[in-house]
Amino acid sequence: MKTCQHLSPYSWLALMLALTMSCIGSSDEAELYDEGEEVSELTQALSVPANMAPWCSLRTLSGSRWAFSWGSASSDPCASGLTSSPGAVIRSAGLYSTNATNKVLVQCDGAVIRTFTASGSAALRQAHDDAVARGFVDCRFVVAPGALPIFDAPFPNDAASRARYHVLHATGVDQARTPLDVREFGQTPVATGNAALVDHLGRDQRNSGGVDNHDGHDWPMDTGTPILAVADGEVIASRARNVTSFGCGADAQQEIYLLHKVGSGTYREWFVTYYAHLSRRDTIAGRMVRRGQRIGLSGDTGCSSGPHLHFGTTRLTNTTGAYRYDFAVTSGAAGMQGQHGDNAFAGRIDPYGWAAPQGVDPLAHRFLNLTDDYATPIGAWSINLWRSLSATPPNPNW
Ligand SMILES: [Zn+2]
Repeated sequence: MKTCQHLSPYSWLALMLALTMSCIGSSDEAELYDEGEEVSELTQALSVPANMAPWCSLRTLSGSRWAFSWGSASSDPCASGLTSSPGAVIRSAGLYSTNATNKVLVQCDGAVIRTFTASGSAALRQAHDDAVARGFVDCRFVVAPGALPIFDAPFPNDAASRARYHVLHATGVDQARTPLDVREFGQTPVATGNAALVDHLGRDQRNSGGVDNHDGHDWPMDTGTPILAVADGEVIASRARNVTSFGCGADAQQEIYLLHKVGSGTYREWFVTYYAHLSRRDTIAGRMVRRGQRIGLSGDTGCSSGPHLHFGTTRLTNTTGAYRYDFAVTSGAAGMQGQHGDNAFAGRIDPYGWAAPQGVDPLAHRFLNLTDDYATPIGAWSINLWRSLSATPPNPNW
């Protein structure tokens, strides 16, 4: 029940291919761990995509005790704010889109949470002016662009490759950490009561065969399909993890984590991508890999019931609860969040963004009323991270 997905029609084909591919893999042994270059030898940060600019949320020592500003691509609103408000502290800062959708979540005076969605700086202006008009005394603003195009597909994505490797989209990120009434997203429930599974369009997916709390995208594909880095990044973990405690079988789950840095300094945006169930890993921690570089081969290892790639995305900056936080891989713990082996289940986002007809991405703020294993870093807006035509669109049923 903890497997990413269930694909019995593919199992026989996959088993045959797995047996075939294992011979190819073993003859390739010398290549293992050879991919990638030393981090220190390469520039680590991705350049900021076009039409992005910085914003800054400050805690100040006087007056309203908050400041929120933004500017053009070459501006430095944090520096300006710190100069005009001595003693101020940065509460969050990042990048917004100057010509497309932005989403702003505002937390004021403890429990008050308000959200705004509009194009360009209008979203930021609305959030700012609303807080002024309501007389809020202590506000923290978190902005997310609707899109930040930095990812290519994690597998060969031309038509011939898709046919050859049988890459299909199976399940998506479950945006509902607790059951939700999808009518608030402009959608119609498929049954009475709230939906435990909700997709990035706000649709009720309780009858989809999806997995509750699933925190990544599954692409069924033949074992041995090249798995590619979605963007330049640093390999922060490459490991075979014992997942027997999750009832997932004895074969170690082979998985890789990459850290992607967009921009640098005060306004940097950092993400981690996660590639699981591999049959082979071709890199080690500490390496720098390039967009499109092969990092391993797909497989069916660990918590998997059929050959597929599980691809997860985590935000490390500008979550609802944190400007930045430290990401760490773990051996895992009870529950879906622990199963995926790091400290940042709550920072997981959908890399297809949030595109419901109305309403707010549940991943961004629903954590605020939850506790325990969801506590840090509380939540994050999903962002569409794909570059144009670079990823197979989600199954229309997801
Ligand atoms: Zn999965």
